[in-house]
This record gives sequence, structure tokens and C-alpha cells, in this order.
Amino acid sequence: MFEALADRLEGAWKKLRGQDKISQSNIQDALREVRRALLEADVNLQVVKDFVTEVETKALGAEVIAGVRPDQQFIKIVHDELVQVMGEENVPLAQADHSPTVVLMAGLQGTGKTTATAKLALHLRKLERSCLMVATDVYRPAAIDQLITLGKQIDVPVFELGSDADPVEIARQGVERAKAEGVDTVIIDTAGRLQIDQDMMAELAQIKKTVQPDETLLVVDSMTGQEAANLTRTFHEKIGITGAILTKLDGDSRGGAALSVRHISGAPIKFVGVGEKVEALQPFYPDRMASRILGMGDVLTLVEKAQEEIDLADAEKMQEKILSANFDFTDFLKQMRLLKNMGSLGGIIKLIPGMNKLTDDQLKHGETQLKRCEAMINSMTRQERQNPDLLASSPSRRRRIANGAGYKETDVSKLVSDFQRMRNMMQQMGQGQFAGMPGMFGG
Ligand code: GDP
Repeated sequence: MFEALADRLEGAWKKLRGQDKISQSNIQDALREVRRALLEADVNLQVVKDFVTEVETKALGAEVIAGVRPDQQFIKIVHDELVQVMGEENVPLAQADHSPTVVLMAGLQGTGKTTATAKLALHLRKLERSCLMVATDVYRPAAIDQLITLGKQIDVPVFELGSDADPVEIARQGVERAKAEGVDTVIIDTAGRLQIDQDMMAELAQIKKTVQPDETLLVVDSMTGQEAANLTRTFHEKIGITGAILTKLDGDSRGGAALSVRHISGAPIKFVGVGEKVEALQPFYPDRMASRILGMGDVLTLVEKAQEEIDLADAEKMQEKILSANFDFTDFLKQMRLLKNMGSLGGIIKLIPGMNKLTDDQLKHGETQLKRCEAMINSMTRQERQNPDLLASSPSRRRRIANGAGYKETDVSKLVSDFQRMRNMMQQMGQGQFAGMPGMFGG
């Protein structure tokens, strides 16, 4: 899927290759390609306009980074914007603090709503959340049977009152049953029509009012392209949705729907359906989807490389700071957090030649020391972080920090003197006078 979009985007940044920086004039072709690519992928026109404007603003405002070509930088901006539009992070299904959590499924007929109901129930069961599925589609008796069959397959009970009962009443009683039986989550499958229809909307609104769901999920067929935008808008205005499930992403879909749904409703896509089987449900990850939209292989590697180089440029700035002794506690904290993001300190240190002989105890000790430092730095004011010398001359500041972090004043004194020693050492390194590195924060 998404091949068309990826190809068009590739054309877009090829035009930027060979330029030395992004400018108002050289970016226009690339932007036009992005625009055309998105329109061809059936992204809604308004969504495309907003997207392209945002990319343009960001691209023109982007700082030039040494070593990163404009086309790489442009890809990264498009990639990041795609991620942003689609919602940055995966948002899991709601879990109410009362039971049951009520999930209402909404959507047109044939989008995969009933299948998604069972997929979701199986997903929750795997998380050890018990489920009850409720069949309210009385207009299509086959829909009730379909849910019962799926329920048997995944060993999840189905509540139904046949096809003569009132859907609102079925939903109400279904939730009552779940409550009485202490079920964790009740998922209500509702009737869909081939097109948006007043009666369907009114019934859905009535069910919603009656069961007060914690989650109202719009099931969107990713093959519907442009239509997905109108559908999302109508359901969101009339019913109010809290999330969406994008189905049939395993097929030949053009991916435009993924972009439109979030932009229009503000509600996150929570899952994607990737096949007809009940197991074929995956959490939605915006960054993965953005990478898919941009295409795999070469292009993705390029984005990663651009990312790496951008991080490197940041690291270079940091190095300059260190060597010129402008390094302060804020920088120190930033470095510590970077280390933490990369995994345990022990794991990293062991990769450094000559350091792999440290015992686990020594490494653990180092990690504890770092945590202490972080707690103390967190208790400092901005001014103190930027000017560590302030602390050397003020016992009352050191006491305040010690109290805030839950340590002794002597601990803070030691941090400050260690820090100053380190900074001097770094400065000497910068001037080529460095001879040997005494133990840092040895405790
Ligand atoms: P409903 O009318 O919205 O309840 O739709 P159904 O759940 O009955 O699904 C309609 C058709 O789409 C069925 O043939 C499903 O097997 C198929 N379907 C549902 N989800 C997916 C999916 O993620 N991928 C594929 N390939 N087919 C799906």
C-alpha cells in the first residue's frame, strides 16, 4: 500500500537534491509534489492544504544543519509532520475506573465493524480484560449470527435479544448484564447503512445517550479514501467520536484516510485492521504509518540518516560547549537524560573499550550516583543550573537543594565540587593539556 504516495514524494525530494539549502524558490516544486501526492492518495483537499502550509512554514524556518542535505532535511520535515498529523503516539483503548468500560462501535455497513468488534474483544482478552459483545444490528439478522459465530471462535460471550427487539434496549440491557457479571469491557456492535442515513444517526445517538460509552470508535474502511473525510466529519459532529479503527490496511488502500481521520476529528486512530482473521488487529503507531507512507527501504534509511546527522549536529554543539567550559548543570542533565534514553548506563559503559572490566556492583553504584545527581539538579533554580559557581559560595542554597532532593548538604557540596573539577578538566582537554581522568562522582 501507499506506493503511489511514496513514489511521488521521492520525486519531490529529488528536486531538492543538489541544492545547498532550502529556500522559498527551490522548495515550491517539492511542495507541489507533496500536494499532488497526497491528493492522489485521496487525502481530503482541506487536509492537504493545511499539511502543505505547515510543511512549508517548518521547512523555511528550519535551521541549516551542517552535513545534512536539504532534501534529507525536507524528508524529515515531511515525515515529522505526517507523524504529527496522525497523532504522535499510540493511544490505547480507554479503561474506565468503573466497570464495565463501555465501547461503542460506529460506522457504515461493510467497513468491517462486526469483525473489528470481535478483533477488539480478542485483543482485550489477551490483555486479560474480560469482554461481552452486544449485537444491536437487528436490521441484518445475519449480523447477529456473524457476531455469535465470531464470539464462539474467540470464546467471548455475545448478548443479543434477537432481531425483534429495540436496539437501544438491547444496548442498555447488554451493559446491565456486563455490570451484573463484573465484565471488564462491553463492546457494542451497531447497525451500519451503506450511506450516512438520518435514522441510523438518530439511533446511534440514542444508544450513546443511553449507555454513556467511555469510548466511541468510528470504524473506517481505509479503501474509501476521500469519503473517509466526510464520514469522519459527519459522525464526529452528530455522534462525537473518541477514536477510530482503520480497517483493510492489508489491501490495496491508498492511505489517505489515515491522514484525514485524525486531522478532521482530532480523535486518534487506535487500531488498524490488517486482514479478515480475528487476530488481524494491530495498535496504530503514527511513526510507523508515516514511514510506510514515505515508503520503505532507501527512503526510510535516508530519514534515519538525516535524523542521525541532526542528532550529531546537536552533539557537536554540546562538545563545543564542553570544551569552552560553558557546560552547565542544564547541559549535564540533558546528557544524563540522553544516556538514560539509550538504556542502562551499565550497558553503554560496557561498550567502551577498557571499561568492560567494571564489576556489576561498580556499574550499579554509578547508576545510583547519577540518579542522585539528577534529583539534586532538579531541585536547583534555573539560575543555579546555569551558574554552578553560585552554589559554591552559598551554603543556604546548597541546604535548600539538599532538602528539596532529600539528601544532605554535603552531598550537594560534593556534586558542585565534582562538577567544577570535571569542567576544569574538560577545559584542559580542550586545550590539549589533559593527562588522566580521575574518578568522577565516585561517591
Ligand atoms: P460490517 O458490515 O461493518 O460489520 O463489516 P464486516 O465486519 O461484516 O466486514 C465486511 C467484510 O470486510 C468482511 O468480508 C470482512 O471479512 C472484511 N474485513 C473486515 N476487516 C478487514 C480487514 O482488516 N482486512 C480485510 N482484508 N478484510 C476485512
